Amino acid sequence: MESKDLNLVALAKHFSDEDKAREFLEKQRWPEGPICPHCGELNNAYRLQPKESKKDKHVRAGVWKCAGCREQFTVTVGTIFADSHIPLSKWLLAFHLLCSSKKGMSAHQLHRMLKVTYRSAWFMAHRIRYAMSQEPLSSKLRGVIEIDETYVGGKIRTGPQSVKPGQRPKDRISGYDNKAPVVSVLQRGGRVQSMHVQRVTAENLRPVIAQMVAEDAHIMTDSSTVLAGVLKCHKHDQVNHKAKEYVRHEDGLCITTNAIEGYFAILKRGINGVYHHVGKQHLHRYLSEFDFRYNERHVTDGERTLAAIKQTGGKRLMLRDSQLPN
Ligand SMILES: [Zn+2]
Repeated sequence: MESKDLNLVALAKHFSDEDKAREFLEKQRWPEGPICPHCGELNNAYRLQPKESKKDKHVRAGVWKCAGCREQFTVTVGTIFADSHIPLSKWLLAFHLLCSSKKGMSAHQLHRMLKVTYRSAWFMAHRIRYAMSQEPLSSKLRGVIEIDETYVGGKIRTGPQSVKPGQRPKDRISGYDNKAPVVSVLQRGGRVQSMHVQRVTAENLRPVIAQMVAEDAHIMTDSSTVLAGVLKCHKHDQVNHKAKEYVRHEDGLCITTNAIEGYFAILKRGINGVYHHVGKQHLHRYLSEFDFRYNERHVTDGERTLAAIKQTGGKRLMLRDSQLPN
């Protein structure tokens, strides 16, 4: 089966069997033969067969033994699937559902569709988001870069009705006090990378931009004053949204932030419409999910699913340190 043809029907039909699902995962993670996670040797391992004659069925299916270091392993060792009791066939379906749903999928829906507990569904979704997280960029973004900030999360009720008896109006909190700021850097025609920052200040944004954006990049923003201060060393153009200016043409170049605004529109529809409430401590994982789907937007759902599955390796230890519940 071609990877571009991989869809839910094909997954359910061909990989509902646990052995087939494992073989599929082995093929994706080890296209050139098994890699020992203990010593790193490629293609120097053999399958251990359960010895039925001796009634010794303790050898699980899918166990390999490395001829180099003599250690045993399976395809899930050192991946986000490690120590999971969820069948791999359900994991594959969950990957496909999250990779093909433009605005994401809630843990409640995964729980109903996959017949796993809500807790398991929540955990699976977070591990998949973790697999989707991108490595720090190896080179800085060049060319035309759009940068913008947005605020996601619950809005606190404001206005006269929010003032409780005994409170003075000036004690009122702003509607933005409960929202989490997100800054995204988008290379036009290329990738996006988003991050949750505590506050949108020049001090917080300066290191982020210095780390991600090449000095010779041409940066476009709206008329946010914070970003203007940060971008002094870059070629920088602004569109003035307050004056209803959204697109302007200068020297054959389109000055606009429409690409990043479009990205934020999808992010907000997902966070507000599908996930409803995203805790600030988990927000970076949801950003990984939306960034990943955007960055893999030019391929089919099946190819996007495989791209995420291929990123499952080498991520287990870091997961242990994360804030995921046990
Ligand atoms: Zn080994």
